Amino acid sequence: MTKFIFFTGGVVSSVGKGVTAAALGRLLKARGLSVGVQKLDPYINVDPGTMSPYQHGEVFVTEDGAETDLDLGHYERFIDINLNQVSNVTTGRVYAEVIARERRGDYLGGTIQVIPHITNEIKRNIHQVADTTAADVVLVEVGGTVGDIESLPFLEALRQMRSDVGQENTLYIHVTFLPHIGASDELKTKPTQHSARELRGIGIHPDIIIARADHPIPQEHIKKIALFCDVTETAVIPAATSDVLYGVPLLLEEAGLADLVVERLQLATSQKPDLQAWAKMIEGIRQPKPTITVGIVGKYVELHDAYMSVREALYHAGIAHNRQVEIEWIHSGDLEKGRGWERLEGLAGVVVPGGFGERGVEGKILTARWARENKTPYLGLCLGMQVMCIEFTRHLLGSDEPNSTEFDATTEQPVISLMADQHDLADMGGTMRLGVYPCRLVDGSKAAAAYGQPQVSERHRHRWEFNNSYRELLAQNGMLFSGLSPDGRLVEIAEFEEHPFMLGCQFHPEFKSRPNRPHPLFAAFLGAAVAHSTNSENQAELADS
Ligand code: GLN
Repeated sequence: MTKFIFFTGGVVSSVGKGVTAAALGRLLKARGLSVGVQKLDPYINVDPGTMSPYQHGEVFVTEDGAETDLDLGHYERFIDINLNQVSNVTTGRVYAEVIARERRGDYLGGTIQVIPHITNEIKRNIHQVADTTAADVVLVEVGGTVGDIESLPFLEALRQMRSDVGQENTLYIHVTFLPHIGASDELKTKPTQHSARELRGIGIHPDIIIARADHPIPQEHIKKIALFCDVTETAVIPAATSDVLYGVPLLLEEAGLADLVVERLQLATSQKPDLQAWAKMIEGIRQPKPTITVGIVGKYVELHDAYMSVREALYHAGIAHNRQVEIEWIHSGDLEKGRGWERLEGLAGVVVPGGFGERGVEGKILTARWARENKTPYLGLCLGMQVMCIEFTRHLLGSDEPNSTEFDATTEQPVISLMADQHDLADMGGTMRLGVYPCRLVDGSKAAAAYGQPQVSERHRHRWEFNNSYRELLAQNGMLFSGLSPDGRLVEIAEFEEHPFMLGCQFHPEFKSRPNRPHPLFAAFLGAAVAHSTNSENQAELADS
C-alpha cells in the first residue's frame, strides 16, 4: 500500500516548499524506502512549455519528454530519481481531460462539476503516480499558497484523499514562513497561525508544520505555533535557511522530520538512515576552495531561475573539481550592442544555454566567435550548439548570411533548419522533439573521453536541427561531429579539434546532472576552464616578473 504525503504552502510563495519536499524524499530514500513525486500546479496552462521563462523560470524536461515545473529538477537532484509525464499536473491538463471526456459523451448526459468531476480527475492523477511507481511513499506538492482561489479544487481533492485511503496512509505537511521584523528583531508566527486556520477551513488539518525563516527560530515560537495551529510541539519543524542548498536534508534530519513521518505513517523501515555519503559531500562543499568564474550568456539572465539546472550542473561540476563556481551573468542583448564585452575578459569559460526566438541571438553568435578566437572553454547547450555552428559557417564563408531559419526564415545559408516533421505544425505546445534520444559518440573525441562510453541517452527540447548540407564544409575545416543519432543522420554534438574545449550539444545535459554525480560534459568543460584559468594566471605572473 502506497502512503501519501501532501505538501501545501502558507504565508508567501518561494519559501522553498519544493526543496523541503525534495529533501524529505532524500531522507526517506536513505531509509530504504522508494519514493514517487508529483507537483500539482494550479495555473491553467496545460504545461509550462509555452510559458515565458520570465514568468515561470526554467522548463524542466523529463526522460519521457514532459515539459515541467522547475521544482521537478530539485526532486531529481535531491532524490536521484527520474520523473515522468504524471509527475506534473496542471489545472489546464485536468480540465482538458475532463472536457475531452465530456465531448466524447462519456458522462452520459450528466452535469459536469468541480466536485466530483474535477476533483476525481485530480485524484486519478495522484493515484497514477502510486500505480506507475509502486513507491512506498508518494510526495505530492501543491503549487501556490493556501488562500489562492486557483488551488481550491486541488486542496479539496487532497482533503478527500484522507477518507479515500485512510488516516494512516496520508500526511499533510504545511510549509510556512516566519517573517522577520527588523525594528524589533523578532520573528512573527501570526501569518502561520492564519494560514493553518485557512487550511482547516478547507477541511485539512495539517499534521506537521515546517516553519521556514531566514533567522534561527527560538523554541518559544515553536511552542506558540504548536498551540495555535493545533499540532504537537514535535510536529513543528524549524527550518532556518541553509547556507548550502544540498544541506537541507541534513538540517531536516536533525530536526527529526523523517523520523516523525516514519512514525506517523507507520512506514516499515528497519534501516537506519544512510546519509554518510551525503554528509561527506556537504562537508566537502563547506570547505573553502579556490573560486572559478564562468560566464552564462543568455537573454533571461535577470531571472537566474530561468537557468536553474544549468547553474546547478556547473555547481555540481565545481564540487567534483574542488572549485567554488561563481557565475557572471551576461546579457546577450548587451553584447550585440557592443556593451559588456569587458565582462568576458578573464572568464575561465563561457556557457551559452538554450533559448528560443530572435532576441539576443546575435550576441550569442558573437560569444561563440569570441570563445573560438580566444581559445576560451565554451559549452553550448541546444541553442548554444546551434549558434556555434552558425558562427563557424559565417567565419568560413566570410559572410553574415548563415543563420537558423528560426531567426531568418529566408536565409540563403540555413545552417540550422527545421526538422522535416516540424514544417507543418500548427500547435506550439508539446510539439517539439522532446525527451531522451540515443547518441553515438565518435571514438577519440572530447565528448567520448568525457563520457567514457560509446553511446549515451540525453534529453531534448528543440524544433530546429543542424542542416547536413553543411557537414562536409565544417568537418573539413576542423569541426568534429562527435555525437550523432545511431542512424548517423542527426548531429547531436559538435566540437572543435583545435581548441582546448569548445563543444556544443543539441540536447540538454544539465537536466541529468546530480550533486554527487556531475554530468560528464559539465565536468569536462569545468576541467578545461580550471586549466584555462591556471594558464592565464601563470602567463600573468610571467608577464609581471
Ligand atoms: N530554439 C532552438 C530550437 O528550437 C533551440 C531550443 C533550445 O535551446 N532549447 O531548436
